[in-house]
Amino acid sequence: MDNNNRLLNTILERYQSLFDQILQSSSYSVPLLPFIGSLKMPFEQDAEIENAADKELRFGTFCVQAPEELIYAVGGQPVRLCMGDTDTADFADDQLPKLACRLIKSLAGYMKLETPFFKRIKHFVLPTTCDWKVKHFERLNPGANKWVMEFPHNKESEISRQRWFSETVRLKEWLEKQSGVKIRKKNLLDSIRLVQNAQKEHNEFIKFRRTGLVSGSEALLVANAYFYMHIAGWTTALKNLNCAVREKAGRNELPDNSPRILLTGSPVIFPNFKLPMILEEAGCVITADELCSSERIFSDVVSVDDKTESGLLQAISDRYLLPCTCPTFNGNSARLKRLRELIRENKIDGVVYYVLNGCHPYDIESFDIEKSIKEMKIPFIKIETDYSTEDTGQLRTRIEAFTEMFKR
Ligand code: SF4
Ligand code: SF4
Repeated sequence: MDNNNRLLNTILERYQSLFDQILQSSSYSVPLLPFIGSLKMPFEQDAEIENAADKELRFGTFCVQAPEELIYAVGGQPVRLCMGDTDTADFADDQLPKLACRLIKSLAGYMKLETPFFKRIKHFVLPTTCDWKVKHFERLNPGANKWVMEFPHNKESEISRQRWFSETVRLKEWLEKQSGVKIRKKNLLDSIRLVQNAQKEHNEFIKFRRTGLVSGSEALLVANAYFYMHIAGWTTALKNLNCAVREKAGRNELPDNSPRILLTGSPVIFPNFKLPMILEEAGCVITADELCSSERIFSDVVSVDDKTESGLLQAISDRYLLPCTCPTFNGNSARLKRLRELIRENKIDGVVYYVLNGCHPYDIESFDIEKSIKEMKIPFIKIETDYSTEDTGQLRTRIEAFTEMFKR
């Protein structure tokens, strides 16, 4: 076995061990299996890819700003390439600066391993969000077709809205060219409906999460699986999971009065569930999050008041700009407003603010957010860490001390 395969096996074992840990404490082990299966997609082998039932074009994407309705409208499948493994991040140490965000380094490591899964992605849709991503776009699969969308960094202005709309229209034209499929009004309406159905099912799921029937790690696992699954399959799997949770809700008392935590900050990406697992081991319930790898995936629905083609495109374009609370915006007061709402609506006891080392956008915003949350008399802790497990003991001690502040 060569070194690359050895590394892949080590990573796969880590994935499996985390799956086992989540399944052991879950009441929904069977309905969670489709999500777990999809998270193994980066380890697909050539034969599996050839035989895959879904033969559609895969479009590698980053972030939550790539308008997925348009990708679905040409029969494509978006695959979000934000990665969370520590060994692949180390493997890319010779390719990126020491201080680079681990999410990007982890992706670079997977690509260096040249797995069939990554080699297969020949198209990329890349919104210019944070600087690490913008620079990394240049290094993605040589020879692949890359489409860079200029994402405005000031969403309050009408000029930004118009500019993002024109980027959306240009993406539509590029996707048509790549796929040979002309996007008509019907394709748009169908794909908007696909996303709305997923959002509806996810809203139901989030209600269960709020009452403690679903744990934070289960919710993160389901949301991370959305990176890889086809949306229709993901929605069906979530519907089945929701049925199982509903049945349990009918049978059992609602759990307990554990500390209710709001998790915000850098995206939590599988298999780096270090922080949520430590929080749950310390007896906290992660009642809500404001993460672009979880609840923010469905932060708003497309409103289809104007059913002309241009009206539908405008609605899709707006969905990715106006409600977005990504810290790469200049003047991101909407994020603080959203955090305050989540705290009030969900009777949050404490806020955990996660900064992935090298993630400057979240790090910079943390100072003003800490001040505002503390003004609300809500305990706040900022955790700066990376994907390695070396600091687990130290983090556990800090989290335990934090939770002591509001134990009932
Ligand atoms: S916070 Fe914004 S820029 Fe960062 S990964 Fe999420 S969507 Fe992308
Ligand atoms: S926003 Fe943060 S986590 Fe996301 S790519 Fe940029 S630096 Fe990395």
